[in-house]
Amino acid sequence: VLQLRGVVKAYGGPRVLDGVNLDVHEGEVLALIGPSGSGKSTLVRCAHQLEAIDAGAIYLDGELLGFRHRGTRLVPLGAAEVARQRGRIGMVFQQFNLFPHMTVLENLTLGPLSVRGEAREAATAHAVELLDRVGLKAKAAAYPRHLSGGQQQRVAIARALAMRPRLMLFDEPTSALDPELVGEVLAVVTDLAKQGMTMVVVTHEMAFAREAAHRVVFMERGCIVEQGAARQVFGAPSTERLQAFLHHSL
Ligand code: ATP
Ligand code: MG
Repeated sequence: VLQLRGVVKAYGGPRVLDGVNLDVHEGEVLALIGPSGSGKSTLVRCAHQLEAIDAGAIYLDGELLGFRHRGTRLVPLGAAEVARQRGRIGMVFQQFNLFPHMTVLENLTLGPLSVRGEAREAATAHAVELLDRVGLKAKAAAYPRHLSGGQQQRVAIARALAMRPRLMLFDEPTSALDPELVGEVLAVVTDLAKQGMTMVVVTHEMAFAREAAHRVVFMERGCIVEQGAARQVFGAPSTERLQAFLHHSL
């Protein structure tokens, strides 16, 4: 579904992503772990075209993101094309980033109405169905400030799903939450995984990574150092770096 090929990103300084190659397959749940500053957020932000990459390429279902070929040259896509591509990837951030002046329902229908051109009736019906799925149907008319952090994050997940994405990216979706609210959000993420959604989850929740992820990818200093099945990565890490990292995070 998603392919990264030799992706390089530097914010004007040293490389934050240093030639990353990664394939995320259909229906796969990939947990991305690694120390602070290793480039996890940058990787998912590049995949969502929130950051421009400096070299390499990212493909979604085989389609090059952000550029098109003109002869032998690559030209950046226009804003409308970028919006269309971004609409196919759902992203959920640490901070919930809901639109504060819109109700929960309006938050969910905005993208489908404006980017996907859905009819209001269909967009509303889909939104209500998604709110039901995350257990928040009763909150459709509420404003974000009247919801708990866990509820806001579940709305953010539903909002991303409203765009009918091919792929979901989560960047530490529970790290801004009070501990007692983490479980309800992880339950929604786990539920999505069971339904076969393709996902990349940046997380510090090792228990979650162990249970929900099909594959765990460990990054350090902009490189993928080790990856494998959760069982193998947690049970028998082969690099010292990963051993040290796990030792400190468990
Ligand atoms: P954390 O676990 O703390 O969230 P991370 O693995 O997500 O870390 P990134 O946020 O991707 O790491 O950051 C990787 C590196 O890039 C860090 O050194 C960071 O300081 C730097 N960086 C991130 N965003 C920017 C930016 N907008 N401008 C300049 N440098 C940045
Ligand atoms: Mg981060």
